[in-house]
Amino acid sequence: MNASSIPDTDVLIVGAGPTGLVLALWLTRLGVRVRIIDKTSEPGTTSRALAVQARTLELYGQLGIADLVVERGRKVNAANLWVAGRKAAHIVFGDMGVGLSPFPYPLIFPQDEHERLLIERLTAAGIEVCAKPNSSVSKLRMTTCARRYECLTER
Ligand SMILES: Cc1cc2nc3c(=O)[nH]c(=O)nc-3n(C[C@H](O)[C@H](O)[C@H](O)COP(=O)(O)OP(=O)(O)OC[C@H]3O[C@@H](n4cnc5c(N)ncnc54)[C@H](O)[C@@H]3O)c2cc1C
Repeated sequence: MNASSIPDTDVLIVGAGPTGLVLALWLTRLGVRVRIIDKTSEPGTTSRALAVQARTLELYGQLGIADLVVERGRKVNAANLWVAGRKAAHIVFGDMGVGLSPFPYPLIFPQDEHERLLIERLTAAGIEVCAKPNSSVSKLRMTTCARRYECLTER
């Protein structure tokens, strides 16, 4: 991609993990022109976050995506703890945070699905995550136009 084909950008976000994706959504909502890039072509599929905490959902409420995340996730009502193949405990969470949060439960929503949902929302807002498979953004060069950036990638 050459610099002339890159749309004007106020903020360049390097890294399309949850932090970068939510930042991109938030800034877009504020009218800031963002560009978001990542060295991988799609969300990671290794085991990472499973549980989404209430505070995250409260923040998502301000972004208008909390209900969608809750709908796609699974509320945790209870957990069984096993030791050496024997059930050792049953812990009931229920609505443990009632009165403290509008989302008074732990929510299971795997990180890769979560990232896909955030990407969907960004796409709906007209922002594309620019993925450069197998390459790492090592330097960013500001071109003659102060608001355009060119990503220099290396394998
Ligand atoms: C086993 C495990 C279980 C976890 N469980 C939970 C949980 O239950 N609940 C919870 O809330 N959290 C959990 N976490 C933590 C959660 O996964 C992290 O907090 C979260 O991934 C951090 O998001 P991030 O966007 O800051 O960073 P990352 O997810 O690491 O994303 C960074 C992104 O930047 C990209 N990148 C990095 N360097 C470059 C570069 N030079 N150029 C271009 N792109 C680059 C990477 O490809 C990546 O996509 C868990 C983590 C692990 C490992």
